[in-house]
Amino acid sequence: MEKRPEMKPWIREIHAYVPGKSRSASGRELIKLSANENPLGTSPAALEARRAAPGPDRYPDPDSTGLREEIAALHRLDPAQVICGTGSDELLNLAAQAFAGPGDEVLYVRYGFSVYDIAARRCGATPVVAPDTDYGTDIDALLNLVTDKTRVVFLANPNNPTGSFLPKSEIARLHAALPSDVLFVLDQAYAEYVPPEEDDGGLALAQTAENILVTRTFSKIYGLAGERLGWGTAAPHIIDALNRIRGPFNTSLTAQAAGLAALRDQDFVQRSREHNLAERARFVSALEALGNHGIRPLPSAANFVLILFEGALTAETVHEGLAERGYATRWLPGQGLPQGLRITIGASAHMQDIAAAIREMAEAAQ
Ligand code: PMP
Repeated sequence: MEKRPEMKPWIREIHAYVPGKSRSASGRELIKLSANENPLGTSPAALEARRAAPGPDRYPDPDSTGLREEIAALHRLDPAQVICGTGSDELLNLAAQAFAGPGDEVLYVRYGFSVYDIAARRCGATPVVAPDTDYGTDIDALLNLVTDKTRVVFLANPNNPTGSFLPKSEIARLHAALPSDVLFVLDQAYAEYVPPEEDDGGLALAQTAENILVTRTFSKIYGLAGERLGWGTAAPHIIDALNRIRGPFNTSLTAQAAGLAALRDQDFVQRSREHNLAERARFVSALEALGNHGIRPLPSAANFVLILFEGALTAETVHEGLAERGYATRWLPGQGLPQGLRITIGASAHMQDIAAAIREMAEAAQ
């Protein structure tokens, strides 16, 4: 047989990212609660700015200058310490690529965001997975696995898919205990759902420490998942490394325009946060009432809840049952969680409908 290009052996090890679905097995369009998008949509001001953006015949600003300045102003950062990306996914990948390579280790916790595994492997590094403690992040277990080959540590706070959250003191403890030549990537994709007074201190840490990159996204609370826009902040030498390898025009004209307007509409962010807090609390308490059926919602600081099905009713059955009722949710056997179903907090009526449907299914399974 004729020779053909062979993918690198470390690329062969990668399982492609599996996105949250919006259709049932039969192809029916469902209400999508499988990708942690904002049920309130997008800020009207951001939609208007997106419409008014310059025509697509022009390249966007390659450095996302105005957007970086707005991000910096809102969060009191130095714009020189801010980088924008094609979603925060791009920045996670760039971080691994710039700071790890073959022979190096990239460390993260079990039940971490699935992109960390891809980011580690695609640069030829070895992923190392720390054990959890009852689905939560165990800082000591993570630190135990740091070796002199560890180059990057990924941690999402709040974490996806578990929803667990570490307070400021634990983030500071982890950072202080890591060797100073290990890059700590603190992924704050869901940080805006955390009440400001419970902030984990990551952004402040990234302004002074030499080895921490904090990433955020416009995909969740800002309702701009389709624009593919994220940002990160770190010491100048880290931003410099990421800038060297990012795509030259990595944020589009419409993403920059919509992102900027979205940042200025903090009322929308506040409404989204309040909706999430109220509906999540109501949904979790409805599920907690089903504890005798082996149903356990994990405490969540994010815009989704991971529900464990440890009794007669299985996560797979609920996943299918909810699809029949019109809802797409995220069943996670591929992430080692066949007992887990992750449901995004959606509209109030939908969450009440889902809680009632799960109760019905639990009673029928007895
Ligand atoms: N980090 C975490 C923890 C996430 O859950 C997600 C989205 N699923 C991302 C990063 C990436 O989001 P985006 O690329 O859309 O910014």
